[in-house]
Formats: sequence, C-alpha cells, structure tokens
Amino acid sequence: MELLTDRFGRVHDYIRISVTDRCNLRCVYCMPEEGLKFLPHDEVLQKDEIIDFMKVMVQFGIKKVRITGGEPLLRTDIVEIIRGISAIPEIEDIAVTTNAMYLAKKAEALKEAGLTRINVSLDSLHEDRFREITRGGRLQKVIDGLKKAEEVGLFPIKLNVVLIKGQNDDEILDFLEFTKDKDINIRFIEYMPIGHAGNSWKKKYLSLETIFEKCKEQGLEYEPIDTVKGNGPSENYRLKGAKGSFGLIHPVSSHFCDNCNRLRLTADGYIKACLYWDEELNIRPYIQKDPEELIRLVKQSIDNKPENHEMALKLQDEATSHKPTWRRMSQIGG
Ligand code: SAM
Ligand code: SF4
Repeated sequence: MELLTDRFGRVHDYIRISVTDRCNLRCVYCMPEEGLKFLPHDEVLQKDEIIDFMKVMVQFGIKKVRITGGEPLLRTDIVEIIRGISAIPEIEDIAVTTNAMYLAKKAEALKEAGLTRINVSLDSLHEDRFREITRGGRLQKVIDGLKKAEEVGLFPIKLNVVLIKGQNDDEILDFLEFTKDKDINIRFIEYMPIGHAGNSWKKKYLSLETIFEKCKEQGLEYEPIDTVKGNGPSENYRLKGAKGSFGLIHPVSSHFCDNCNRLRLTADGYIKACLYWDEELNIRPYIQKDPEELIRLVKQSIDNKPENHEMALKLQDEATSHKPTWRRMSQIGG
C-alpha cells in the first residue's frame, strides 16, 4: 500500500475531521463571546461526503480518525457519520472530542454506531468557573456525560484541560487527584496562539512545566508510562499508585512535530497538514467526482508540510518562516 509519507519521513495514518464550525459554547481560548461568522449549511461537508472521503483515505494507510469541530455532537446526523466511518474495515480507531453538553443523551447511540472512545473538554471542576471559561457551559452536564460514557464503555476516557494562567492553574492538583481512583487520562494542554495571536494570549499562557513543579511542591511522585491508547502528541505519566494517568501536550514550550502523523479536514472541505500553517487545499469538489485528484491534493499538502509549526516563536514575538493560520481552533478542528 502506498503510504502518505512527507519529506521528513513522517507517515500519516491519522486524520482529524471537523464536522461543524458551530458550537453551543464560547470558550475563552477558542471563540469570541459574540461567536464567529459560521459557515452556511450548504458549505459544510455532508455525511456521505465525509464517509466517501474516508473510503479514499484508508487506501493510503489512514486508520485512525478523530471527529471534532466546533461541537460535533451538534450535528443531527453525528451517529450516522460515526456509523458510516466505523463500517470501513480499515478503520481501527474512531474517537470524538466533545464539550459533553449532549454526551449523556448521545453516548449510547454513538457507542452502538461504532465509536471507540471519547475526549471531553473540562477546564474547571468548579461550576461557576466552568461557566465563566466556557461562557455558559454546565458542569453537571459534563459529569452526567462522563458517567454515561463510562456506563456504555467508551474507553479510555480522556479529559482535555487547557491550562489558563490565573483562571484554572490553581486546580492542577485537584485534576491530578481525580486520576488517583478513576481510570481516566487527564491531558493538560498548553494554551495555543491559534487564530488570535498577540498579547492577550501570552498573558494567559503557562508552560506545562508548571505541572511538574506542582507535583514537586506537594511531594507527589510520578513515573512516565506508555500504555494510553490513542496516545497522539501526549507524554503520559502516572502518580504513584494511581488508577488513572495524566498527559502533557506542550506544542508551544516544546513542539511535538517530530512524530506528527496527523492531517486535518475542515468542516468546509479543506485539507490542512499542519495545525498552525496557513496552507490549506480545497478537496471538496473532488471527493465524489475525482478521487485521483483528491489524493493528489492530499499528497501536495503533505509535501508542503513544515518540519515544525514554529508556535514557540510567537512566545518570543519572533516572525515565523510562514504565515500562521487565520482560522480559529473551532474552524480547524482541534
Ligand atoms: N467542542 C469540542 C470540545 O471543546 O471538546 C471539540 C472542538 S475543540 C476546538 C477541541 C479541543 O481544542 C478542545 O479540547 C479545546 O480545549 C482545544 N482548544 C481550543 N482552543 C484552544 C487553544 N487556543 N489552545 C489550546 N487548546 C485549545
Ligand atoms: Fe466550542 Fe470546543 Fe471551542 Fe469550547 S473549545 S468554544 S466547546 S469548539
């Protein structure tokens, strides 16, 4: 089988598909309070286009998929999208990233449709603070969603926590505590300057070294582990004696590009080989009409993939060698 290999020998077997740019929340690091100009419905890929796209991609070695957005569970046909992708024999792993507002309602149908596992975004364990960060989210809905996901067996469950200086960095130990008796993976993520660069981002950014410092302060012992399914760019650790684990995703302080195996498809049908790069190619016109041209564009995108995303330069106010993306995270699919 011909694999999707780039100039640096990185083989691409994983794609993140954004199925919508819309969201029912407005997280402070992701979307402005007033929302964004959302795509008209006819500009968003339809269910069959997404499934047909995947049928082409598996012929070139793609075997892992993450469905994301915007908020993917807002799509009324999300269960059918999952069913269609999971029915493709070459697909080994299909996950969803969600804010969990509708997870309790949909977990069972998603599992039955073939979903393997979920990532849930949860940046605070305090109701009022959670509402503030997400601008309207309800913590109880996340808790109910997690319970239901556990009940129906969407394992492993991962929690995404974006570390925001002055807003949730005092909860690091509470999140770590959470891993002690729950078989859950907490992924601390550095705040990225995607789509809204500048000083407002830098004021809120914290390096994930902070996690180790907190552990040391508290005398918490931890060890590296290598057993979390769907590991991605996360470095994983376990507190001594804990059931669960924690991971660090630090694209800014230390980029994770050496082993990058990911491609992204935006909700309006653009292929992006790098999260932070502005280059994107519109493959929508070819999905059902010309799979050869479709794959030619995918390969072109991979050929142009940079060696690393250069996000760290933003921290020092240095210019990148290429234009960073104009899209926000919700418009790319985080
Ligand atoms: N709505 C879903 C959710 O929140 O889980 C899926 C889409 S969201 C864009 C995917 C992930 O990107 C979330 O875990 C979110 O926390 C993360 N994210 C969004 N903006 C970010 C930023 N500026 N820096 C770091 N992570 C970000
Ligand atoms: Fe919506 Fe997810 Fe972005 Fe929050 S992080 S605004 S839930 S897309």
